[in-house]
Amino acid sequence: MGKVYLVGAGPGDPELLTVKAARLLARAGIVFHDSLVSRDVLQLIAPGAEVIDVGKRCGHKLLTQDEINSLLVSASAQHNVVIRLKGGDPLIFGRAGEEIETLRDAGVDFEIVPGITAALGAAAAAGISLTDRRAASQVIISTFSRGPEGAAFDWGAITSTTTLALYMPGPDYAEVARRFRDSDLPEDLPCVIVSKATSDAQQIRWTSVARLAEEEKLPAPALMIVGRVASQKVQDISERFWREAPNDSHGSRTTVS
Ligand code: SAH
Repeated sequence: MGKVYLVGAGPGDPELLTVKAARLLARAGIVFHDSLVSRDVLQLIAPGAEVIDVGKRCGHKLLTQDEINSLLVSASAQHNVVIRLKGGDPLIFGRAGEEIETLRDAGVDFEIVPGITAALGAAAAAGISLTDRRAASQVIISTFSRGPEGAAFDWGAITSTTTLALYMPGPDYAEVARRFRDSDLPEDLPCVIVSKATSDAQQIRWTSVARLAEEEKLPAPALMIVGRVASQKVQDISERFWREAPNDSHGSRTTVS
């Protein structure tokens, strides 16, 4: 029996891959990758390895999650090194939970190799300190997309000291802005859109909750970083956008006019 490695490919730049991921890719017998993995990273796969794209494109699923789970188990019977390669980190919006359960149930040996998740790649690209001590005490990694039962997940309590990293915002920025307003985010709160972070095609747009709806759509994959830290002058906005002190637990989030 071989071993299955759930490997993070990072956000795009192949130099952001871990040394361990690169070493494993060079030894792989078979690699199942999703569509977010960059071509430069795929080039590091051992020349003789079987490479299977199990990703989704334009909402069209190439393989179901159940099929991928079974393939990982059956591949472990044929190859010493089986790699499930995912964009960013495998444990962030990567459906690794279902794969881990399947591998555990089947008694297959596995290991998780972390990668740099998109929010960290995007923050680095934009030069944003996600936990800047002048303005943030927590980071929420979230998305609007829905759970398997169709119920929207609660995206948590957003306070004046929260930095929100919003994955999969979708192309409808007006809808995203509406949801921000529904969550009582102040109109002037900074929002940064980062598209294709760490790749040659990276784009960064500095905007705000109020201006978001009018922004030109950036190509996927893109994410948004929202919060006071997403200003180019964090010091200037420390007190401006939120009325209450950062540690106020009452949650009134009215903009100071
Ligand atoms: N496991 C991945 C996330 C998969 S969900 C990770 O840890 O990064 C897919 C979403 O991730 C995309 O819709 C987008 O919001 C974000 N994303 C992935 N790669 C990105 C990149 N290079 N730049 C900006 N956002 C990215």
